[in-house]
Amino acid sequence: MLQFQRQDPILHAYIASSPSAENRERLSTELAAAMLCEGGGARPCGQCRSCRKVFHGVHPDILITDPEGGAKTAAIKVDQIRQIVATAHIMPSEGACKVYVLRQADKMNLSAQNALLKLLEEPPRSAAFILAAENPGALLPTVRSRCELLRDSAAGEAPPDEALAYAAEYFQAVCAPQRSALLRWCAAHERDDTQTVQAFLQAARQLLSQKLSGRPDLPQLSDAEAARQLERLELCERYLRANVGIRHIYGLLSVPTAPERDGKN
Ligand SMILES: [Zn+2]
Repeated sequence: MLQFQRQDPILHAYIASSPSAENRERLSTELAAAMLCEGGGARPCGQCRSCRKVFHGVHPDILITDPEGGAKTAAIKVDQIRQIVATAHIMPSEGACKVYVLRQADKMNLSAQNALLKLLEEPPRSAAFILAAENPGALLPTVRSRCELLRDSAAGEAPPDEALAYAAEYFQAVCAPQRSALLRWCAAHERDDTQTVQAFLQAARQLLSQKLSGRPDLPQLSDAEAARQLERLELCERYLRANVGIRHIYGLLSVPTAPERDGKN
């Protein structure tokens, strides 16, 4: 279970990400419980009145937003975000804050994201936000940069150092002024086995989400390009799960995500 030690700060906005809807729900609930926990030790304690209410789905300060519309067109629309904006400054009924959970936050349309961004930039003290998303890459980099990205821990342990080194090499090639560097790097890895590629993709995603949540690990990448890279890495992971050949995956990775490398962005 997700747990914060007493000394760990809990921020006002998180992206709870997992490919599985069930795991996103679990992660969001644990996070909301941690935000509202009244216990004295690690949060959520799972025992206090507040934790029990959260885990039973009856805490009055948890406000859930779901996408509206049919399965194909479902989206979180700007009116739904406006409702959040209108109530976010109202004090919570029991807890220390109100926790807004956006299920399928990656289905927010652009105007909804922009409306939410304003709120994330100047969050009221009385509100916290959990954006549950299968694909955080669908969120604006500006939205992502205001949130701490939490990935489902069940999705895998920390990638091995070797994979992190691979990923760092990959980003060096992505950022190299000569486009041939990326092509060469990808060509050199075409014969990697599935496990190696999987670990590499996971490590690369991790480096990127650290960058997107404000840690300057990859200073050469702009936020916009980092977001495009993240989207691509997530696509490659889906391809890999669907047994698309490794050569195709590296073929996709070898196409630059930056339209032009001229320092703009
Ligand atoms: Zn508790």
